[in-house]
Amino acid sequence: MMIPSPWRADFPAIAALQRQDQTYLDNAATTQKPQALLDALTHYYANGAANVHRAQHLPGAHATQAFEDSRLKVAQWLNAGDSGQIVFTHGATSALNLLAYGLEQQFQPGDEIVVSALEHHANLLPWQQLAQRRQLKLVILPLDADGLVDLAAAVHLIGPRTRLLAISQLSNVLGVWQPLTALLGMAKVQNALTVVDGAQGVVHGRHDVQALGCDFYVFSSHKLYGPDGLGVLYGRNAALERLQPWQFGGEMVLEANYHDSRFRPAPLGFEAGTPPIASVIGLGATLDYLARLDQDAVSAHEAALHDYLLRGLAARNGIRLLGKPQLALASFVVDGVHNADLAHLLTEQGIAVRAGHHCAMPLMKSLELAGAIRVSLALYNDSQDLERFFEALDQALELLR
Ligand code: PLP
Repeated sequence: MMIPSPWRADFPAIAALQRQDQTYLDNAATTQKPQALLDALTHYYANGAANVHRAQHLPGAHATQAFEDSRLKVAQWLNAGDSGQIVFTHGATSALNLLAYGLEQQFQPGDEIVVSALEHHANLLPWQQLAQRRQLKLVILPLDADGLVDLAAAVHLIGPRTRLLAISQLSNVLGVWQPLTALLGMAKVQNALTVVDGAQGVVHGRHDVQALGCDFYVFSSHKLYGPDGLGVLYGRNAALERLQPWQFGGEMVLEANYHDSRFRPAPLGFEAGTPPIASVIGLGATLDYLARLDQDAVSAHEAALHDYLLRGLAARNGIRLLGKPQLALASFVVDGVHNADLAHLLTEQGIAVRAGHHCAMPLMKSLELAGAIRVSLALYNDSQDLERFFEALDQALELLR
């Protein structure tokens, strides 16, 4: 059965990679870019770059307008109440660090921060370091056999001392959607702040931050087919009002004196210095492109490809999946084969997949694994990409076993 992608030609890099005999299946790490984004970047740079929010001149006004239009598009993409709730950062990682520093004063020694056992380092280390700075307790929610947070355990671990829950929406290792509604509900009962790491989740389907009801939601543009060096922090108004600025400098200030200063509210108060202007404008163009696609068709395509991937893996002996992936990716190990050896042989055959701990070292340790191979899909992949992967996998395993 063939599963073609109707959107493949919209991404010029896919054809370029194919000319280099490369099959790109590392989309959870970063994605290829649509022509619409390349056009927007060329247009911005070819027609006059200018800094935003500070110049009176015409190029500055154009850049500021395009920049703020993009902020509005991001707000609409997430169904945020207004564009003032969208803060641009340099990535999901910097958004999470902003939160861990900007919320620091709200914690007292002995307070608890809750994360899950599968978090990416970006959603673990900022909280771990905050806990060390403020003598807080970091509580780890265990997983069930499928890789979902164990809700029966969570009920006992999210309690009156919980001040913040930080949880990923879709795991970058296990490909499972976490039971966010239940978990956020438990945190809210305790009046704890809630942070959702949407770095992987935002790429698959549309998500409504108001319906989700989290205080903060973060993602990286580059995983959502957008430019790199750019992240998004959405915050509920009341939550943003409690956040302190983390970085200081130009444009985030209301009034500066030699010995004290006053700062702007969100979003500009959290965007010190020159932001990644072209990337912000490019993300707006990327969202325009994505908004034009038939979302149901994209979801159906992603589900069909994922099913194809899982069936192909299940048909081969000795392959053990990590968890029970629901969408987008599958991580696996092969009995008796080191993941680095397998990755090496796949690379030699032009297959771009990821091997190792996937920035989730504690999870890998808890699974007693040195690492795993991860195949991750995007809307431009098709079944031929997976066929090439399976052929390469069979050849590699023949050599290794
Ligand atoms: N959270 C998750 C679940 C991720 O998969 C990643 C990146 O792989 C991040 C956070 C960090 O994203 P970035 O490196 O773009 O800041």
